[in-house]
Amino acid sequence: MTDLESFADRLKTLTNGRASTPRVRGGVMTLALDVAGLDSEKRDAIAAAIREGGLSVPGVQDVRIAMTAERKGLRIIVVASGKGGVGKSTLSANLAIALKRLGLSVGLVDADIYGPSQAKLMASEDQKPQAREKKLIPVASPFGVPMLSMAHLVEPGKALAWRGPMAGNALSQLIDAEWGDVELLIVDMPPGTGDVQLSMVQKHKPVGAVIVSTPQDLALIDAMRAVSLFEQTQVPIIGLVENMAGYSCPHCGEVSDPFGTGGAEAAAAAMGMPFLGRIPLAIDIRRQSDAGDPPAAADGPHAEHFVAISKRVEAWLHGTNRQ
Ligand code: ADP
Repeated sequence: MTDLESFADRLKTLTNGRASTPRVRGGVMTLALDVAGLDSEKRDAIAAAIREGGLSVPGVQDVRIAMTAERKGLRIIVVASGKGGVGKSTLSANLAIALKRLGLSVGLVDADIYGPSQAKLMASEDQKPQAREKKLIPVASPFGVPMLSMAHLVEPGKALAWRGPMAGNALSQLIDAEWGDVELLIVDMPPGTGDVQLSMVQKHKPVGAVIVSTPQDLALIDAMRAVSLFEQTQVPIIGLVENMAGYSCPHCGEVSDPFGTGGAEAAAAAMGMPFLGRIPLAIDIRRQSDAGDPPAAADGPHAEHFVAISKRVEAWLHGTNRQ
C-alpha cells in the first residue's frame, strides 16, 4: 500500500466516510468533504485533522479541501415505540445529545402527548418558548440541543384530553417552529400507532424511524406494530434499540437478565432490520434522567451505549444523504 493509499484509508475513519478519495498533483492534495449537518466547530476540526494528515504524506506540500454541503432542509428522525414506558423519551433525549456531541446541529421535539417529559430530562423546565410571526422559538437546553415540548403548550396532564386534529395541530406547531440552523430534528413520538402518529408521519415525512423496545415478548409485539406503521407509510426504519436489556447492579456492575436478553436483536434480524444497540436497566440512568442530567451529556459509564447508537444513526443518515 502506498503512503497515499494508507492515508485514504485513514481518512475513511477520520471523516466517517465523508471524504472523497484524495488526489495529489504537483505536490497539491485535493479532496471533497461532505459537511452536511455538521456544526462549524466539528467541520473545522475535521478539516484541520485532514490537513495535518495530508501534509504528512511524502511529497504533499499543500492540502485543498472542497467542502460540499447540500442543505436539504430540516430532516426528521422519529423515535417510536408500540407502547409507553419502554424508555422512548430517555433514548430520544440522549440520542439528540449524543448526535450533537458528534458535531451535528440537532433539535428535539417532545411529541409525547400522553406524558411529555423532555423538559425535565433536558433540564429546561423553567423556560417558556416565545413566538415570532406566529412561529414558536425553541427553548435552549444546557446541552446545546434546542427543544420544544407539548408540555410547553399545555399544562401537565391536560394534553391527554386532546384528540386527533388538536394533537396533530399542536405537534405541527412544534415541528414547524423557528429552528434556525438546526438540520436534524429528533422527535419523541407518542407511544402507539394511532391517528396522531399516522398523520404526523404523513404530514412531516420523517427520513427515518428508530424503534425502541424492551426485551419482553409483549413489548416486542408492540414494537412490531410500530414497525408496520412505518412500513405502510414508506418511512425507512433506521433500526431497533433494546432498552432495559439486563439489569446492571449498582454495587458490583454485574449485568443480570431478569427479562431475558437478545429478544430484540433476534426480532430485528428476523425482520431484516438493523439492530442499533442495547441499553441496560440501570438505576443511574433513571436517577440521572429524573435529575435533568442525561448520561449522554458526560463521559460516565452509561454514555457509551448512547454514543454507540448515535454513531450508527449518524452513519445511516450519512448513507441516506448521499442518495
Ligand atoms: P417512554 O418514553 O417510553 O414512556 P421513559 O423514557 O419515560 O419511557 O422511561 C420510563 C421510565 O423508565 C423513566 O422513569 C425512565 O427514567 C426509566 N428508564 C428508561 N430507560 C431506563 C434504563 N435503561 N434504566 C433505568 N431506567 C430507565
